[in-house]
This record gives sequence, C-alpha cells and structure tokens, in this order.
Amino acid sequence: MIAKLLVDDLKQQYELIVKNRRHLHQNPELSFKETKTARFITDQLKSYGIEVHEQVGGNGVVGYIRVENPTKTIAIRADFDALPIQDEKNVAYKSQIDGVSHACGHDGHTSALLGVAKVLQENRQYLKGNVKLIFQHAEEKPPGWAKAMVEAGVLDDVDYIFGAHLASDLPLGRLATRVGPTMGSVDAFTIKLFGKGGHGARPHQTKDSIVVGAQLITQLQQIVSRRVDPIEPAVLTIGRFESGNAFNIIADIAELEGTVRALNGNVRKQIEDEIRAILDGFKVSSYIDYELDYLNGYPVLVNHEKEAHLVQQLIEDAFGENAYEVRQQVLGAEDFAYYLQQKPGVYFYAGSHNNDEATKFPHHHPKFDFDERALLNIGTIFLQLVNHYVIQEEQ
Ligand code: MN
Repeated sequence: MIAKLLVDDLKQQYELIVKNRRHLHQNPELSFKETKTARFITDQLKSYGIEVHEQVGGNGVVGYIRVENPTKTIAIRADFDALPIQDEKNVAYKSQIDGVSHACGHDGHTSALLGVAKVLQENRQYLKGNVKLIFQHAEEKPPGWAKAMVEAGVLDDVDYIFGAHLASDLPLGRLATRVGPTMGSVDAFTIKLFGKGGHGARPHQTKDSIVVGAQLITQLQQIVSRRVDPIEPAVLTIGRFESGNAFNIIADIAELEGTVRALNGNVRKQIEDEIRAILDGFKVSSYIDYELDYLNGYPVLVNHEKEAHLVQQLIEDAFGENAYEVRQQVLGAEDFAYYLQQKPGVYFYAGSHNNDEATKFPHHHPKFDFDERALLNIGTIFLQLVNHYVIQEEQ
C-alpha cells in the first residue's frame, strides 16, 4: 500500500503546491525567457535534496532521484512557460507582469510535479528504480523545445515518459486520455509571391500578385477538401494575406501565412507536398516566382496503447469507475509528442473546473483559472505510475 502512503503524503503538500503555483502565476515568463522560473524550480528541488541538472536544452531543468542498481527509469514532464496574454482575473495571485500570464495552466503542471518530487524524495527508500523529473521550457512556441531537451539526451536513460495537462472543459475529478493519435501536428508556412507591379490600367504589362494570391488560396483550400482522404482529419488555414498599397497600382509582392494540422504523419507530409506542387504549377502558369518557408512544428501526439490502458486503470482505481473518459481527438498541438516518438508513455488530462464560472474559461483566455485541487489529481496519477513501474515488486 505504498501508493496510498504516497498519495496521502501528497495531500499533506497541498498548501506548498498551491503556494508554488501562485508564486509562478504571479511571476510568469514567456517562452525562452523563463530564467527566473527555472531558478525557482532549481531552488525548490535542491531544497528537497534532489540532484538537479540545469540548462538542459535551453532553460530546461531536470531533477533526478536515483537509486543503486535501478530496475527502470520513469520520467515525468511538466512545462513552465507562460503566454503573451494580459491577465484579466481579479484575484490576489494575478500576474504581476504586464501582458504576460499563465493562461494555459503550466504554472499548475510545474507545481504539481514539484509536489510529486518532494513526496518521492521523502519516500525514496521505497524506490527500486529512478525517477526523472523533467521541467520543460518553451512549450508554447513551435517547433517546441521538448525537441531540444530530447536532443540534449534527456530521454537516453529513460524507459517510460508521462505528462499531463489541466483541462478546463472537464469537471474536477474527471480524467481522460486515449490510445493512439490524440493531438495534431502543427506546421507553419509563409509564402511570398514575386510578381511585377505596374499601373492599374495596364494589367497586361504586369504580373498581378494579388490575383495569383487569390487563386492560390482557393487552390490551397482544395487540398483538404479534394486531395486528402476524407476519413483523415486535417486543416489548412491561411491566417494572413497581405499585398498592395493603392487603388490604382498593381502589386508586385503578396505574402501569405498559414498553418497545417493533421492527426496522421502521412497526411501531414502529403499536404506539405501538395502545397509545393501547387506553387510550382503557379510558377509555370502565372510566370510568378515564389519563396516558401515551411516550418515543421510539433508532430502528431500518439499515446502508446499498453501505457494508455494502464493510465485508464490507475484513474479508475484512484477516482472510481466513472472518473475516466476517452479524450476527444483535437487538432490543437502539444510538444510532448516529441517524447512519445522516443519512448513509450502517455499524455493525459485532468478536469479542472468546478461550479464557479471563474474556472470554466477555455485555456489561453485572459481569465483562465482552475480549481487547484486538480493538481492533486495530476500528482496522484504520477505517483501511481511511479508506484507501478519502480516500486511494486511484480514487474
Ligand atoms: Mn498548454
């Protein structure tokens, strides 16, 4: 019954978890600028007596609880960057930084994992394997700095990896995950069309980049509707189209920006290839040169089957049969996908709203907030996973 002991200990840390969360909430830092946050995490881990590795792949921090002759190593990851959103909440712990706030809940993920770290360090005599606590910076900015942490070797000695996100669309006490593709890939692209400007009354002497841009958008919109298998979810959005200066001048340059989302790596690749093919076609038929800057962001997040079933089981054991639900697939993205490309594991979601309207705003909303007890629920599953992989006898 060590799992129960650990969860009881976590509940004892609730005040500290809330205190840490509110400290982070008041002091949010944008992706790649999270130096004070990294310092805070480092100081906390050290104060618990945990071995700390700093500046892993950037501002990343790794706490490592090691034992002699480890059976396995389980990693748990929390992210800690904030967003360029003005905090519009009216609470004592609101952001003190103008225009920056923890509107996605990463402050919660980090404080939950710090609580788990303290509990595990205090109970390290029960561990037969290692626990790696991965605190990751810059989740919100493609290509996602999980990639840099992986490249820095953070998973090299790891057998399993788990992570979680608060979910304001789920009530407190409900948790969710799913087997297989769960969140989409996200790519970003910029297209520049180089035509030839001229007088608005003399189009035959020009190459009108606005007309070509308009046709291009229409064609790009046919990739998903006419070229991709309709059974496969995919999105291509043009979010920006800029060109021209005056009513009587034909514009020589047009610039378009967009994003591609998919739940299948092959579809993702197909859409990129189709964009290139369509552009090459325009080059021939419209005599227009182009420049394409295509950035592959996060890959599709694919939860591993065996581990996802385990997480479901642990959720039902800890919170009752009705606590679990199958997470809907979304085309929103999460860079935890990089870890799951390397090692078996799962990303799961913990419901975080209660009856108070203040907890029901969507993530990335200026008033986003959550019931802090959800942090205990995330921590409980993390501890159950540690118990399963590196404490229990039967492995
Ligand atoms: Mn997030």
